[in-house]
Amino acid sequence: MIHPHTELREVDPQIGLGVFATRPLPRGTITWALDALDQRVDASRLRSLGRLYRPLIDRYAYLNGHGERILCWDIGRFMNHSCDANSISTGWDFDLAIRDIAAGEQITNDYALLNLDQRFECACGAPNCRGVVSSTPAEWEALTPGLDEQVRLASHAAGHVEQLLWPWVKSKQKVARAFRNPALVLSVSEHRFDSLPDALPARVPAIR
Ligand SMILES: [Zn+2]
Repeated sequence: MIHPHTELREVDPQIGLGVFATRPLPRGTITWALDALDQRVDASRLRSLGRLYRPLIDRYAYLNGHGERILCWDIGRFMNHSCDANSISTGWDFDLAIRDIAAGEQITNDYALLNLDQRFECACGAPNCRGVVSSTPAEWEALTPGLDEQVRLASHAAGHVEQLLWPWVKSKQKVARAFRNPALVLSVSEHRFDSLPDALPARVPAIR
């Protein structure tokens, strides 16, 4: 479930569509939460769907920590990658704004946290663009400490901002406790899928 104060817009002809904030979303805002309408496609169903569906799954779904492809039913599936993402997939089943997002600003995530089974060359334009984005064990090790710190800071703010997606959050008591106590914030690596190999094949840039 994408935040209600968002809309789909064209980023540019090359990238295509992206998700944009229609109102300011302060740091700590839950920008997306997994809900029961999001499709879970396990390996067996992926095989049974066959080749016709594979490009759609590769383009629009992400891989969770159990090896299932999650296909968002709403515009959440159009969220683009940035190496300087303003919203991060947390150790829970939701994303948090890790800095203030202005009205009209594109909401981005870091695809490395979505268990990419292929690497891609990135042209996100961020000053800290990594050039190649992947979810190899080395990439997880490199990214996790910094992103965990950003999620801890955002979680501290999360208890003080309007949370329109709170009804969709699971384990509310645990999450609320973590918003009050940074020591209880789960690592972004909570959903890491450890079966990915060290070397991943290349793919073209994708849209979540
Ligand atoms: Zn980049």
